[in-house]
Amino acid sequence: MSISNYPKFNKIDENPTVLRLLRNTPPVEENIMSIIVLALFQSNTALFAIPVVNHKNVPTGIVERQSFVEIFTKTYTKEIYGKKKIVELMNKFPLIVNIETSIDDVANIIIDAGIQHMVNGFIATDEGQYVGIANGYDLLNEITQRKQANLFYLAHFDQLTKLPNRILFQDRLSMAIMHANREKSLLGLLFIDLDNFKHFNDSMGHGFGDQLLLAVATRLSSCARDSDTVARLSGDEFTIVLENMCSKVDIDILCIRILETMKEPMQIMGREVFITASIGTSSYPNDDIEPTGLLAKADAAMYEAKRSGRNTFRHYTLGMNVYSLDRMSLETDLRVAVERNEFELFYQPQLLFSTKKVVGNEALIRWWHPTRGLLTPVHFIEIAEETGLIVSIGKWVLQQACKQQMIWLESGLEPMSMSVNISAMQFYQTDFIEVIRNILNESGMQPKYLELELTESLFMHNVDSVLKTLNSLHDIGVKLSIDDFGTGYSNLSYLRRFPIDRLKVDQSFIRNIENEPVNAEIVRAISALGKSMSLDVLAEGVETEAEMTAANENGCKFIQGYRFSKPLPADELEAWLKGNNQTLL
Ligand code: C2E
Ligand code: MG
Ligand code: MG
Repeated sequence: MSISNYPKFNKIDENPTVLRLLRNTPPVEENIMSIIVLALFQSNTALFAIPVVNHKNVPTGIVERQSFVEIFTKTYTKEIYGKKKIVELMNKFPLIVNIETSIDDVANIIIDAGIQHMVNGFIATDEGQYVGIANGYDLLNEITQRKQANLFYLAHFDQLTKLPNRILFQDRLSMAIMHANREKSLLGLLFIDLDNFKHFNDSMGHGFGDQLLLAVATRLSSCARDSDTVARLSGDEFTIVLENMCSKVDIDILCIRILETMKEPMQIMGREVFITASIGTSSYPNDDIEPTGLLAKADAAMYEAKRSGRNTFRHYTLGMNVYSLDRMSLETDLRVAVERNEFELFYQPQLLFSTKKVVGNEALIRWWHPTRGLLTPVHFIEIAEETGLIVSIGKWVLQQACKQQMIWLESGLEPMSMSVNISAMQFYQTDFIEVIRNILNESGMQPKYLELELTESLFMHNVDSVLKTLNSLHDIGVKLSIDDFGTGYSNLSYLRRFPIDRLKVDQSFIRNIENEPVNAEIVRAISALGKSMSLDVLAEGVETEAEMTAANENGCKFIQGYRFSKPLPADELEAWLKGNNQTLL
């Protein structure tokens, strides 16, 4: 999902109550016949549980759909149990919380009360009276999303100034360009660099430098309009995206306003400080139509401003020295990388915590670029996906991984599974199933050892055709897992419909899990969810002993991460495994 789809929210730290999770399912009375409750479930397939109350509307029990309907699977049981009152069949120990309980608190209560409540759900009361019932899946969804919103905030806002950081800035700039293109309007970009900031930082200390940056950020924001994006790129570099300009004069006006505002002294830690700035500007569509080009040109203009003596601004003009990011050349190189045999697969072991034995490996692609050296996927997977090259690269990865699997088997290693990452675009290809079949045939690999790692985003589109492909893969016998689980913002209900075998808990939840109660909570909830659907749960990115222990205590049976091994070339991993009898300790 693009960053711009998110609202311009601030850090989510308010903790709402359970009210937003409640469904006001009408309760039934204790004396009602069980057969009537059965009819309620049968007439409404969306009912996951029904609350039971006494004559004073005080909850006394809960009837959970799955186990209750199971009682009636045989016809004669209707005769026997149907005539019983619901009070005899209901779960007499439902989890009941007050309507004002916060969502984080209820998550903790559920964890302490026993994880079966995650499946059953819980009842909310107001002064003892029944108000509504909530579903455990919704609760999990909610806490994961809240956590994600916080992670999103951390990843996209500068912690010091609370301004958008480089990532969010780039996204906002791209969106602004699209908007200007549609509206045929002008857009301006300011690149602002403080003069002699290093001098303050070095002589007065970093704490002082931070306060100064904070004060500058506040001043810049006060100069801009609400619709403009003020961002901190790094250190003492700031940018402003100016939308809906009437003419280029608007840029001059803003630049002059900023320089004037900066002239006023600032009070920093009891001292009076003066600092100036140099500003470079570029505009769309005159100077460039691409975000990177606009930024590079505003940057070049900023250097001109510095060269002209600082404390001034310059617009970009032709001939200024532009440093540009050469994405184009990377794309050209990527097109020939497969034929030139420049890719290599590294493998990272996955182990069963209880035995510390390696039970599988994940294949991770690396690119030996002729001039840039070894590149990891962050540098090229996105380009491969955007250009469609991922389809042929992905096929090569599958072939290579299966070949390696057979080499290891023949060399005497015990069977291990082989996990391969699959991009959405690859998965959506009409011949995807055919490709998998052929590769399995050619390599001679048994399907049950191949695990395809899919991401949550894949499940959000075109559910019917996704389900069809998943079922075909399941029929072939390959295993399916969800990678980076928990980061997808998705509705978890798809899990019940799709033939998934394993959840890979994203590393952001594992990081520092032993000290972060929210992380532990999420991992425990995910594990409970996995368990209730008979899925294996693996912890990704486990770096330390403490993370490993905590991940396991919170329900992850499988572990992968630097704690045991970084991804290694095939021969290095093989030597290691053989030397240690496949057991990592
Ligand atoms: P992923 O599938 O979630 O893979 C895990 C990533 O986490 C790998 O990064 C791995 O090196 C890294 N990692 C493993 N353990 C630790 C740890 O303890 N700490 C930290 N900080 N990191 C750890 P890598 O190899 O750079 O791959 C990044 C992503 O690129 C993968 O994420 C996957 O989504 C994608 N990718 C890799 N190979 C392929 C491929 O062949 N095809 C496709 N479509 N995507 C691939
Ligand atoms: Mg993966
Ligand atoms: Mg992952």
